[in-house]
Amino acid sequence: MTVPLRQSVRIAAYLAAQKLRRRDKFPLLVELEPLFQCNLECAGCGKIQHPEHVLRRRMPVSQAVEAIEECGAPMVSIAGGEPLIHPEIDEIVHELVGRRRLVYLCTNALLMERKLDQFTPSPYFAWAVHLDGLRERHDESVCREGVFDKAVSAIRAAQRAGFRVTTNTTFFTHDSPDTVRRVLDFLNDELKVDQMMISPAYVYERAPDQEHFLGVRQTRELFRAAFADGRRKRWRLNHSPLFLDFLEGKVDFGCTAWGIPSYSLFGWQRPCYLMADGYAKTYRELIETTDWGRYGRGRDPRCDNCMAHCGYEPTAVLASTRSVKQSLRALVQS
Ligand code: SF4
Ligand code: SF4
Repeated sequence: MTVPLRQSVRIAAYLAAQKLRRRDKFPLLVELEPLFQCNLECAGCGKIQHPEHVLRRRMPVSQAVEAIEECGAPMVSIAGGEPLIHPEIDEIVHELVGRRRLVYLCTNALLMERKLDQFTPSPYFAWAVHLDGLRERHDESVCREGVFDKAVSAIRAAQRAGFRVTTNTTFFTHDSPDTVRRVLDFLNDELKVDQMMISPAYVYERAPDQEHFLGVRQTRELFRAAFADGRRKRWRLNHSPLFLDFLEGKVDFGCTAWGIPSYSLFGWQRPCYLMADGYAKTYRELIETTDWGRYGRGRDPRCDNCMAHCGYEPTAVLASTRSVKQSLRALVQS
């Protein structure tokens, strides 16, 4: 079974189990942030502005594992900050993979090649390398020269070592349909990564760059034009077909923030990875004490320009399960 097919089957089984248990809110994937410190200072980042004493903190392995066990999510995306700075990140990955969670380790790749031998290839583990464009565009996005070349070298080293490698690309107003196509063609055809994630940038309140974020209309125009020549089908995108339809503006959805919750050093973040309206100690408390109806486009001005994966991919996945046609589309894509 290919890894994407294994992932689709795993998620389908998990969704069926939630339905049997009559659980109406449940996590598909957790954004786990075991630290906030990073070795880059990207202008669009909303995660690294904490005071020094917070940046120095590291989440213990047991706390990370207990949070994932308590919520029951089948997939975990470990982000930060830069997770490879965490001295026990290999142990966190090892524990979660051992519990058959599908783990994505998000990284800017600066430390990846050096730390590769601390990890073991597994169908339950993938690197998710941050690459916002080709050389000039990516280095500009992360505010440091040479990062693109380091990331490409680390991806090739991981592929040689037998790891599954995916990428995560965020698009801003500097991007055009042509830059979207060029970076995805490069990742798909030249680097031959296993799968690629894409996202329009979200305007974090704390990010130094408040100017280059796409609005909803711009996001739809960008992706509709970039996908226009049929490449969308050829690219190995790690998204449900309905989420890609949503980015193109072919369908519209509400936000399902409880489907991809965020757990950090502060606890379960309300309501999502992008906004912080307080924290809960457990996923259950997060679900029971959050007024979910307050959030989403047209309800909270901070949500008005959001088309992010963490809010809308769960809506797309849940909508797919309610339609035989969409379920087949999702499986064929695997
Ligand atoms: S690499 Fe990621 S966490 Fe680090 S500064 Fe850039 S966006 Fe923020
Ligand atoms: S619309 Fe976006 S920012 Fe608002 S709650 Fe949903 S995911 Fe979070």
